[in-house]
Amino acid sequence: MFSRLPFSGILSLSCRMSSTSASVLPTSLLRSTAYVGGSWIRSSDTFPVLDPATGTELLQVADCGPSECREALKAASGAFQAWKEVPSKERSNLLRKWYDLMIQNKEDLAKIITAENGKPTKEALGEIIYAAGFLEWFSEEARRIYGDVISVPLKDRRALVLKQPVGVTAIITPWNFPSAMITRKVGAALAAGCTVVVKPAEDTPLSALALAELAHQAGIPAGVYNVLPCSRQKAPSVGEILCTDPSVAKISFTGSTATGKILLRYAADTVKRVSMELGGHAPFIVFDSADVDKAVAGALASKFRNSGQTCVCTNKFLVQKGIHDVFVKKLSVMMKKELRVGNGFEDGVTQGPLINEKAVEKVEHHVQDAVSQGANIEVGGKRSGVGKNFFEPTLLSNVTAKMVCAREETFGPLAPVIKFDTEEEALAIANSVNVGLAGYFYSQDPAQIWRVAERLEVGMVGVNEGLLSSVECPFGGVKQSGLGREGSKYGIDEYLEVKYVCYGGL
Ligand code: NAD
Repeated sequence: MFSRLPFSGILSLSCRMSSTSASVLPTSLLRSTAYVGGSWIRSSDTFPVLDPATGTELLQVADCGPSECREALKAASGAFQAWKEVPSKERSNLLRKWYDLMIQNKEDLAKIITAENGKPTKEALGEIIYAAGFLEWFSEEARRIYGDVISVPLKDRRALVLKQPVGVTAIITPWNFPSAMITRKVGAALAAGCTVVVKPAEDTPLSALALAELAHQAGIPAGVYNVLPCSRQKAPSVGEILCTDPSVAKISFTGSTATGKILLRYAADTVKRVSMELGGHAPFIVFDSADVDKAVAGALASKFRNSGQTCVCTNKFLVQKGIHDVFVKKLSVMMKKELRVGNGFEDGVTQGPLINEKAVEKVEHHVQDAVSQGANIEVGGKRSGVGKNFFEPTLLSNVTAKMVCAREETFGPLAPVIKFDTEEEALAIANSVNVGLAGYFYSQDPAQIWRVAERLEVGMVGVNEGLLSSVECPFGGVKQSGLGREGSKYGIDEYLEVKYVCYGGL
């Protein structure tokens, strides 16, 4: 069960902070309770949020269960009727205020990300700018929700198309972008006139709650943005309610393909609208004609951001025979020169910890599987001495398409290189997986660029570019990487219904 807290004194009532974290984390934005109906809600159970770099406990956070979940859905349903009728200009202004507050608090928000996710502060700051950008973008898009007038063959009729908000939206997010994966959905949903209940990842609830504090300060009305933290143990029961309750019209999920499939099954009974941003396995192809130095720079950016823990990170490199040896040599030199493993709060660190030990075990398994089948370790290859959640940035050559790392998502700092002969062979290996989120290739042959961009089975292609995410462009995948697109002018459509009005008797 839960109880409402006065808005002040939240920390003194329910936080237990370790002394190391207390010196780094901004207490003004730290919240440990759920945010429901505009109030901070305490739960009888709590769960620990850990610093992945040191293993120390940052905070005990409310472990919400089914009753809090129903309360949050009630708040979101109650707020929906009023929110959808708020003029779009006003919704836009509120989102803009929320954006401004994120920018004003960017350093503090970034510290929270580094503490709970581990990514280096410079990268965390980059995430906050990116995350805030979705609120800014959708504050602008809120005012550009257009309908249509259609000409029909009958004289006495007119046909109109209205765009209306879908309704209460359940949002479930992962830990790898604790802030951006929330704003990319919530910005679009609120702009469209939907209200939301967000269940953040158990590893990184503090960013979601800090965003709630800023939403509150921005004047987002009570019940429009609700946050329900819960432990991994309670995620299935909370998730089931969020995805089956009749009051929920839409589910927007980012996370693994395995969890996405569970939620899709839940959604079926009440035929909810769904957006699914799921796992990836990005190929990075380097053709003989490529500028090798640019390819190496792109490889570093695409592979090692967030220690390899992004859904668009390169999973396997495919390098053509003629350029293979020089690419591997140059990449290994650059990895040794540019990448530094350590605590994300330390200056100069580019590679923070992985999110937990299970993630380290997965990378280790992928390396061991490849090496046992003949792969060569060019760089790294083992756990780092920095701490138990750290793994050395690793480069493997002589990898084959049969090895686990060439078939499954590694989600860590492992760069396996497969040598290939022909364009057809590279495309066959790249397209052999059942997911298709991002893909990258380097070539200076214009005809090849068109061919390969069209034939790669992915939702996003980087041509001579290793970083491709931006607020203005559509993000999403094909195959088992998901359904729908986020960001861009297309993102808001995920939260809008098209209603046709036939106006007769004229
Ligand atoms: P995950 O699927 O384990 O967890 C994601 C979220 O789902 C968390 O909030 C978790 O608590 C929740 N969850 C887990 N089981 C649930 C259940 N039974 N019912 C309801 N909720 C449940 O994924 P993860 O390990 O946190 O994230 C990494 C994955 O996310 C990778 O596969 C990555 O590729 C993917 N990802 C995709 C995108 C994209 O835009 N396509 C972006 C980021 C991450």
